[in-house]
Amino acid sequence: MPELPEVTVISEDVADLAVGREVLRAAVFRPDVTNVEQREFGRLLVGRTLRGTGRRGKIIVLDFGEVVGLVHLVISGRVLRLPEWKEPDRMNTAVLEFGGEGEPVVLAFTRLWLGYFDLYEPGEVDRHPLISRLGPDPLSEDFTVEYLASAFSRNAGVKGLLLDQSVVAGLGNIYVDEVLFSAGVHPTRKASTLTEKEIRNIHSAARDILRRAIEQRGTTFDSYHDAFGETGKFQHQLKVFTRAGEPCPRCGTEIVKSRVAGRGTHSCPACQVS
Ligand SMILES: [Zn+2]
Repeated sequence: MPELPEVTVISEDVADLAVGREVLRAAVFRPDVTNVEQREFGRLLVGRTLRGTGRRGKIIVLDFGEVVGLVHLVISGRVLRLPEWKEPDRMNTAVLEFGGEGEPVVLAFTRLWLGYFDLYEPGEVDRHPLISRLGPDPLSEDFTVEYLASAFSRNAGVKGLLLDQSVVAGLGNIYVDEVLFSAGVHPTRKASTLTEKEIRNIHSAARDILRRAIEQRGTTFDSYHDAFGETGKFQHQLKVFTRAGEPCPRCGTEIVKSRVAGRGTHSCPACQVS
């Protein structure tokens, strides 16, 4: 699933390809892909210019002025540039054609089988069911050590809390495993037992790892590609995720895969304190 770094990269790619361009055509394949009537989708977007793009948690935000597109790729969704207009289908779930100088730019938002492409008025974005519950963005000023310490005062597992989008927006399974390894904290730890130093380590590891992953244009280990069709490169820097059976890069003990917070979890049983 695309997490914060991958969604950031895709959002910036869409900006590079289409900001300043006017929508010529837009359609969705199925009514359940969007919150508006299927035939209204095109009517609401055609003639509007993409002013900018952004991200809220794992949601791509497309600013069309009086309309805002909120795109959630969920598991295997991608944004692809198509050579020419194509009516949406099961694969290319939502398709937008942008005019302007040179060749038109056609973007397909693919495989939105569990995801969606919702259209909201700008003032309503904060009421979107997923956005209204989002905690602070880990790269924002609101994400402080003090905030994290208060979120961790609950009697819950640290991994589950970091995956909870209402605690921190944008982290998923890959980066939580990497952050906890970097911080030397075992994923099964109860958050309320963390020391102040461990909380500081988790805080700085989260920011550092996410920034480096954005620089490396995300992690590809299954389907993720950027909007130019390229894979990310951060998978080469993963220390524990997908590395079960390999030696821990810090102490040499075998990396173990287990199940924590309902997710496949990778950790070192020796140097991550449980
Ligand atoms: Zn180790």
